[in-house]
Amino acid sequence: MMPIFTRAIPLFERIEKAGFEAYFVGGCVRDYILGKEIADVDIATSATPQEVQKIFPKTIDVGIEHGTVVVIWEKETYELTTFRTDGEYSDFRRPSDVTFIRNLKEDLKRRDFTMNSIAMDKEGHLVDPFHGQKAIEQRVIETVGSASERFHEDALRMMRAVRFVSQLSFSIEPVTFLALTENAYLLEKIATERKTAEFEKLLQGENRKAAIQLLLDSGLFQYLPGLRFQEKALAQLLKFEIEQLSIIEMWSFLIFLMGIQTDEAERFLRRWKLPVKKIKQVKSTAGWLQYRVHSPWNTESLYEAGLQFVVPVERLFNICNHQHLLQSISDVRERHENLIIKERQELNVSGHDLIKWSGQNGGPWVRDKLALIEKAVLNGEVANKRESIREWLLKCNQS
Ligand code: ATP
Ligand code: MG
Repeated sequence: MMPIFTRAIPLFERIEKAGFEAYFVGGCVRDYILGKEIADVDIATSATPQEVQKIFPKTIDVGIEHGTVVVIWEKETYELTTFRTDGEYSDFRRPSDVTFIRNLKEDLKRRDFTMNSIAMDKEGHLVDPFHGQKAIEQRVIETVGSASERFHEDALRMMRAVRFVSQLSFSIEPVTFLALTENAYLLEKIATERKTAEFEKLLQGENRKAAIQLLLDSGLFQYLPGLRFQEKALAQLLKFEIEQLSIIEMWSFLIFLMGIQTDEAERFLRRWKLPVKKIKQVKSTAGWLQYRVHSPWNTESLYEAGLQFVVPVERLFNICNHQHLLQSISDVRERHENLIIKERQELNVSGHDLIKWSGQNGGPWVRDKLALIEKAVLNGEVANKRESIREWLLKCNQS
């Protein structure tokens, strides 16, 4: 077993000594079987949250009503969730009540897909009542029990299925897929934030094209924020060879393909409830991409966009042109590197200098003059030195 599992063994022993069971569950077991890297482990236990708090001196209550307690142990943190069944699903979203149970199999039964319903004890023995290993071997995503029922209980599972397609390059088992198509509309009831989290993972998975194709084929896309009438833009996305892009780049590319302008882009991104900072970055990237498809970079646009946007935009521009020109990326990098100044702060004069030299009071003219100097320095019309700039200004005033 890998260190990420073995270092939790003392924790398991402590739980067992207190008379309870503990297992690794969910994504970490699935990824372990797949031989993938594991970022964090989830642990399920028969101990109730209160019992977990009694066993370990240091715990954080992160969601006791759902049975989850974080244990701090030997400077590491572990998320422990009590075996549970989910009660009535009243609104296609969240279980209205959670019942803690002592039986592992019942806990595994409430999990979404068979590949996610495997438990592993501290010796590495698997408990797999729903044949998750077989599903992993066949690389299929199938629900535990009736797909239609499971999607009615929690419609987000449909998005999870599709994002796993993107991340794992699995396919969706036919009956599960049929249920997904029939129940796509239920996604409307799901909180935006949950859909956004899944969609972002989907956009970043290696197999994103297949996943987007499934969003289209199943009709799920219609129930995602602002995508109801964007079938074409999504289909367009499939035509491009998208390498590893950041999430900002992915959103920007989508907006670009949607062919919308800044205001509309903002409205679209807000519908996904993205953070303000992210919206700003995406808007700028998409805006500069719009510029780039019409014009080559020049000194002023390189300067104005800044390296932060120039490189991603150039990467997206290459994708638009079906090219993989690493050369063009290093070229723009170099051209940006060779700019005489890269930001206004690098100017060797300040507003104070201008006021002092002119003997006038400050005012809007200072900003205008600085912008003029900035442009002249950038274009090499005057050296970025205090004295040279002062002389240049005198000469300008004379003529
Ligand atoms: P990831 O690698 O993205 O973390 P994961 O499978 O671990 O994938 P999590 O969201 O961390 O996904 O959930 C952990 C486990 O909880 C899942 O493997 C699954 O067993 C269960 N689970 C999560 N969300 C649901 C859901 N909506 N319905 C049923 N079971 C779920
Ligand atoms: Mg996980």
